[in-house]
Amino acid sequence: METKEHITHEAGNDEAWVCICGNMPSDGGFYPCDEKGNEMEPVVGSDWNGLYVCADCGRIIDQKTLEVVGQNPNPKFLD
Ligand SMILES: [Zn+2]
Repeated sequence: METKEHITHEAGNDEAWVCICGNMPSDGGFYPCDEKGNEMEPVVGSDWNGLYVCADCGRIIDQKTLEVVGQNPNPKFLD
């Protein structure tokens, strides 16, 4: 059975994410993304699924579980 990776967060602050690669919101940060790991606008009516992509390593993170659900080594970012 494959063990899923999870990112962590700073103690006492579940919004201060720390990626497995060491990226934090104050560094490269995390961006809302689609299932492929490309940044998207999480607007009402979009098909955003609560996923974020790490700007440093491209890991795709489910915001509810902090589980790494994929990785896009070359994510596209919006301007
Ligand atoms: Zn990362």
